[in-house]
Formats: sequence, C-alpha cells, structure tokens
Amino acid sequence: MRSFNGISVPAEGEAIEYRDGRFVVPDRPIIPFIEGDGTGRDIWAASRRVFDAAVRQAYGGKRQVAWYEVLAGEKAFSKLGTWLPDDTVEAARQFRIAIKGPLTTPVGGGIRSLNVTLRQVLDLYACVRPVKYYPGVPSPVLHPERMDLVIFRENTEDVYAGIEFREGTPEAQKLIAFLDREFGKKIKPDSGVGIKPMSVSGSKRLVRMGIEYAREHKRNRVTLVHKGNIQKFTEGAFRDWGYQVAKEEFGDVCLTEEELAQPPYNGQIPAGKILINDRIADSMFQQVLTRADEYQVVCTPNLNGDYLSDACAAQVGGLGMAPGANMSREYAFFEATHGTAPKYADKDMVNPGSVLLSGVMMFHTLGWHEAADAIEQALARTIAQKRVTYDLERLMPGATRLKTSEFASALIENLGAAVPARA
Ligand code: NAP
Repeated sequence: MRSFNGISVPAEGEAIEYRDGRFVVPDRPIIPFIEGDGTGRDIWAASRRVFDAAVRQAYGGKRQVAWYEVLAGEKAFSKLGTWLPDDTVEAARQFRIAIKGPLTTPVGGGIRSLNVTLRQVLDLYACVRPVKYYPGVPSPVLHPERMDLVIFRENTEDVYAGIEFREGTPEAQKLIAFLDREFGKKIKPDSGVGIKPMSVSGSKRLVRMGIEYAREHKRNRVTLVHKGNIQKFTEGAFRDWGYQVAKEEFGDVCLTEEELAQPPYNGQIPAGKILINDRIADSMFQQVLTRADEYQVVCTPNLNGDYLSDACAAQVGGLGMAPGANMSREYAFFEATHGTAPKYADKDMVNPGSVLLSGVMMFHTLGWHEAADAIEQALARTIAQKRVTYDLERLMPGATRLKTSEFASALIENLGAAVPARA
C-alpha cells in the first residue's frame, strides 16, 4: 500500500523486511511514528531532531530514516473520528518497526487501546524495559549506579489474559460450583474469580528472547523471576520451562548456579558463558535494592514484570525517562513508558528522555549501533553537565533548567564528541 490514513508513504524510503530470523534493514528504512498526545507533540519534535542528527553524524548521509507519520489517539480522532484507525495497525504490520509517544487513554467504554490491539494483532509477546542509571540523575537509593539490567516481561498471558468474572454473577457462581463439583476446590461463594493461564510456548519464547539478548549483548547473567514457591503450575512451571530452554537450546553457553559452583568454574563465569538462575519475586525486590549489580537480564511473567519494571525504574530516578518496547521476533513497537502529562502539553517543558532512550533501543534493533550509542552518550553527557528539563532540575542542586527543545539542542551539541566504534 502506498498510503495509510490518507497519508502517502515516503517515496524515498523502503520497508524493513524480516528474513531468515532477522530484520533486513535498508539504508532508508520507513519507520512509522505516532507523535502522541499532550506533551507527546513537544517530545516527538525534540526527539526526531536528535535521532536525525545522530544518524547523520554516525553515517554521514549514507543512512537516513524515512519517518512516516501514522495516526492514533486524539489526532486520529479529530481527523478520522476513530482513536485507532485500522490503517495504523496495518502500517505497523507492513513496516515492522515503529515508535510512539504517549497516548491519552480515552474515558468511556468500547474504545480499542493501541497497546492491547497491537499486542494482540502482531503478537508482541515481550515487553522489554532496560533500566540503567545515568550519573547525575537524582535517585532515592544510595547506589543507583549498580543497576543496569534489561527486563523481559511476558506480555500476553498470566492474569492479564482477561478471564475474570465479577462476584455474584452467574458466570462466577457457575465456575465456583464447577471447581467444587469436579475438583473439590472450595472458593467462598461471594468471590470474584480470575484465571491465570501460562503456557509452555508463551513462557519459552520469552525466555528464549532474553537469553538471545544476553548472548548478543555480551551480558552473562539471565535470571528467571517467578512466584513458583506458591503458584507451582504457573509461575513454578515458568521457571522450569525457562531452565529447559537454557539447557536444550543454549546448552553450549548457559550454566546453572549449581554447575558454576563446581570445578572447573568455581564460581567464576567464563567468557562467553551465561549464568542462568532464578529468584522468587519477593526476594528479587530486595535483591534489586541491595545487590542490583548481580542482575543483568531478567525474564519474568506478566504481573511480576509489571511491578518490577516500575520499581527498578524508580530506583534509577528515571520513571519519566524509562524506555520500553513491545516486541516479538518479527515486529517491534518502541514507546514512551510515561503518560501524556496533559498539564504540560505544548509548554515545551517536559523530559523527552523516555522517547529518546526508546529510540536508542530502536536503533540497536535496526543494527545502527553507532547512532544508538551516540544518542545515549550525548544524553549522559548533557545530564552530567546538569543541563536538564524541569523534572530533574528541581531535584538537582545547581542545575540549569532547559526546555524540551533546548534539551534536544544540548544533546545535538553533545553528539559532536567522538563515538567509539563498536565490536
Ligand atoms: P503521566 O502522563 O505519566 O503524568 C504523571 C506525572 O508524571 C506528570 O504530571 C509529571 O509529574 C510526570 N511526568 C510524566 N511524563 C513526564 C515527562 N516526560 N517529563 C517530566 N515529567 C513527566 O500520567 P497520568 O497523568 O496518570 O496520565 C495522563 C494520560 O496519559 C492518561 O490519559 C493516561 O491514560 C495516559 N497514559 C498513557 C501511557 C502511554 O501511552 N504509554 C502511559 C501512562 C498513561 P509532575 O507533575 O510531578 O512534574
């Protein structure tokens, strides 16, 4: 198709393809973007300038993103009368990799959520959230620099499957009676009930993605976080299936804690090997506070991942700067993790860090590592210079408050420093 929502596809770009298990990225990839509602407009304008400058600097014109606006949220509603046009979902499918700012959640029933729809239509089974500290960012913990991990949260199963029955309804009563009659399981009759499905295939593909990520990014620890001590056949099974993937598919690189303790390893992870271990979710919340540096990649079911992602992001002071992606092997949607912060809309005030760092993830996924590294380093430098937006400035003594657009300009200025080559 040459247009979606009546907007022409950029003539100078080409679609990213997926072949032989990987993205095939042309030098002019068409990347759909949704600028987002509220503060999304300022954030997107600022982020796009930084992205284009980083790509220009890294590749001197050889590569360039052909940005392609697709509509969702308020903009789609005002132009097309729908919050999520089918064309937008179709464009995400056709072009495979896309990025979005925050969207308003419309009040009222019957409205499709972009995230839920894309997750279902494209089967984006992993919610990926890197959590890393940038020196200078105010943090509530003593050693935020110890945290540098990537959380792979299962995105399609668990209590999020939406199988729930309200207390007192015939459905809830029927299910309660069925469980009693068939299995002798007693539930108080005045209960609401929900179902927590977790499958072998859903769990294994998530853990597989986490281990592959660790291998590609030279991270040597993968931790399965679960509540298997209580929920043996869902959370406990997730742990067991995770270990199975490690053993059966990555046996040449993965070592368990038990194996690592024996000779010849004696507790040292050799180069090229990955330690696979597991932690019970409640213990993990302590561990990320006290020994965050022992964790690098975390694979976890949906609900644990929901809690853990925000708790970890808060530790590095970066809830407003935390990036994220919903992805499968074949599709990826990068996004701001915060909302639209409507009271600051069009005031050129808020922190664009979440979309910028989502862009860093996106460029890594494209294989454009030099551009990704350049943006990340420029962001780190700008924060270290204490040139920050209001949210950080109010917590950083001696900092200079910049507008969203000025922050982008500061980053572009800081892109100038040499970018080390990547192995
Ligand atoms: P929010 O938009 O995340 O804003 C809450 C507060 O977080 C803001 O008032 C601001 O705090 C801070 N904040 C958020 N983004 C910031 C940024 N980029 N820079 C600096 N500070 C930032 O949450 P909300 O007010 O609950 O939600 C507003 C709308 O966004 C709702 O419609 C909600 O459904 C939607 N939402 C969308 C997404 C998404 O699209 N991914 C996610 C969450 C919420 P201070 O006022 O203290 O400075």
